[in-house]
Amino acid sequence: MLVIGLTGGIGSGKSTVANLFAEIAVTVIDADVIARELVEPGMPALVAIEDEFGPNILDDDGRLDRQHLRQIIFSNPVARRRLEAILHPLIRAEMNNRLTTVTGPYCIVVIPLLFEVGQTDMMDRILVVDCPEQLQIERIKTRDNMPEEQIRAIIRSQATRDERLDQADDIIVNDSGQDRLKQRVVELHRKYLELAANQ
Ligand code: ADP
Repeated sequence: MLVIGLTGGIGSGKSTVANLFAEIAVTVIDADVIARELVEPGMPALVAIEDEFGPNILDDDGRLDRQHLRQIIFSNPVARRRLEAILHPLIRAEMNNRLTTVTGPYCIVVIPLLFEVGQTDMMDRILVVDCPEQLQIERIKTRDNMPEEQIRAIIRSQATRDERLDQADDIIVNDSGQDRLKQRVVELHRKYLELAANQ
């Protein structure tokens, strides 16, 4: 089975592309979805995060206060590394676990911080979704109602477009409408089926 790592900057269109693959019955494993499931109440990772950051990291319902956690790790690299030390091995283990259950000829693994975290070893190919920075900013303003300065800070904290493009096996330029995007996904689907058949 061929494992395609799908990555790209915030707002580049990773989730949109992943949904298009899922629509044509390709299995999609999403690191962000796994990360959210791992910190549900009662999960060991949430207990570890509470031990590390204190009870204030939970809201009144005992759920992870993401906004609070984001604020802490954004300005504190040591705290960020501690959080990553808790979550990354668990995310990786769960991704591997899910990969063993895939029945199709290939699957898409969405990892927003593929290069930053260094999980390229798990992938047979790397698919990068790319678009101009201004478009990333406009999309995230609309999607998350986030101030432009915060979006720019997130973009600065991520790998650069060039760093991603340098390591890409395949690229989706997502700077126009959804129809074009769909066509490109179907094109890549054919390519991946062929590569998987010749693996
Ligand atoms: P990411 O997962 O990379 O952060 P998303 O897939 O969530 O990005 O896309 C960010 C926003 O931009 C979403 O609201 C999405 O609907 C929108 N979007 C992405 N690609 C397109 C496109 N080609 N045309 C129109 N809107 C798009």
